[in-house]
Amino acid sequence: MNDSGSKDSMAAIVVGGGIAGLSAAARLADLGLRATVLERSVDDAYLCNTRLSSGVFHCALNSISKPADELERAIAEATGGTADPGQAGAIAADALRAVRWLQQCGSRFIRGTEPYHDFTLAPPNIDPRDGGWRGRGGDVLLRTLEARLVAAGGQVLRGHRARRLRIEAGRCVGVEGERADGSPFRLDASAVIIADGGFQSDLGLLGEAITREPAKIFQRNARSGLGDGLRMARDAGAAISGLGGFYGHMLSADAFHNDRLWPHLWLDFVAAAGVLVNRDGLRFTDEGQGGVSMVNRIAAQVDPLGCFVIADQVVWAERGRFNMQAPNPRLSMAGGTMHEASTLRELAGLAGIDAGALERTVAAHNAAVEAGLTQGLEPPRSVNRFRAYALQSPPFIALPACAGVTYTMGGILIDADSRALDAQGQPIPGLYAAGAATGGLEGGGPRVGYVGGLLKSTVTGLRAAEDIARQSGTRRVAA
Ligand SMILES: Cc1cc2nc3c(=O)[nH]c(=O)nc-3n(C[C@H](O)[C@H](O)[C@H](O)COP(=O)(O)OP(=O)(O)OC[C@H]3O[C@@H](n4cnc5c(N)ncnc54)[C@H](O)[C@@H]3O)c2cc1C
Repeated sequence: MNDSGSKDSMAAIVVGGGIAGLSAAARLADLGLRATVLERSVDDAYLCNTRLSSGVFHCALNSISKPADELERAIAEATGGTADPGQAGAIAADALRAVRWLQQCGSRFIRGTEPYHDFTLAPPNIDPRDGGWRGRGGDVLLRTLEARLVAAGGQVLRGHRARRLRIEAGRCVGVEGERADGSPFRLDASAVIIADGGFQSDLGLLGEAITREPAKIFQRNARSGLGDGLRMARDAGAAISGLGGFYGHMLSADAFHNDRLWPHLWLDFVAAAGVLVNRDGLRFTDEGQGGVSMVNRIAAQVDPLGCFVIADQVVWAERGRFNMQAPNPRLSMAGGTMHEASTLRELAGLAGIDAGALERTVAAHNAAVEAGLTQGLEPPRSVNRFRAYALQSPPFIALPACAGVTYTMGGILIDADSRALDAQGQPIPGLYAAGAATGGLEGGGPRVGYVGGLLKSTVTGLRAAEDIARQSGTRRVAA
């Protein structure tokens, strides 16, 4: 018997009530199976990354309407061929199906600003600060899925934090944890799906896996991903993918004390057109790989808060205005630091950068851009994704930058059916993972690529539910 008061053992326990967990639970309900979602927060509209998200469903920045083989190629390209092939195939094959299923559940989508934004949750979540997410895309979606779950006899237990998996004879048979009042709980289940949203907000794990200075990485997220799922699964013998990469954006370093500077006003596109240096005036990464790559390299610096985007007027005018919520002119209006000077030497003095080194770095960059030889720079500068500009039109600009982590890309290694694997690559019976708790799709180690958090979460959630239904002998699995 479990302590929810019911004598029948639940079909499945889902840890975490974000889009991954609620998609899994609502799909189980569609398939005639009962599910209980455990949600750590006690709030009715608990904050999670899904509620903060901009709501764009895409696959590696491609429209999900593209054929599956094209999407699979896009994932391989974004991750430099390091994506887990089984997971990549599943995401590509199910991209449109996942969104169609959300529509059947009552979610509404509109077109966004970019061509690949053809499925953006409605109403759009334009400014999520100060509760601006209430009644917008992710919030409406979670309420819709919860209502569907509850109507089918399922439930979301708020204030329940899962801490341990119960494993008997090699099979996952339930979870234990604590309620918000500190009292323990224990629940039986024929399967457990971990969907706790990643480990980005646990500074211990962040420090182990991603950076020596976790407190200097800005939390561009709901601060609800505490790595419980990763720890539970690891303790139960689950294999873990490379944990070294995260999805995020480059923000003004002032975001640490000024909420007007996040989650938007990205510096990514300015840096990708200009030069990114440390306090020694030296480049340390290929700016042409884009924002996700750059923030991962910033996090790996000895001092992640000693980084500066260097631009001139041409870059600031063109790339500073690129994207829906561009930093030009909003950054300084919102109170973000922007040093400006007519010479690089003067700029370096204002920003606290080594002046001679900055002049040499920009001179080498300019010469390489003009000669078309940026691959010869140290480190090399690619130009196939983002054009490099010679910085020669004063005033020059220095923007103190920081890496903002949205969610961690590494996590519990799963197969195409979202089954958690053990160290031998075999599924652990009864154990599944979905959403940002999982790893392998976005590559690992030094090379990671953004595939799209909402799509990944929905597909892995649906696939976990459908495999549980198959294992339980339910016949209605076909979508
Ligand atoms: C500002 C912002 C913008 C974004 N925009 C986009 C976008 O446009 N497109 C896109 O594809 N992605 C976007 N993302 C990423 C996307 O939101 C996430 O990848 C996705 O929502 C993750 O869903 P999830 O269900 O895995 O995790 P979450 O939505 O974070 O949900 C996890 C839940 O688990 C709960 N939990 C944690 N630990 C426990 C525990 N031990 N027991 C019980 N419950 C627990 C948490 O409280 C939380 O409610 C954005 C994210 C942010 C922050």
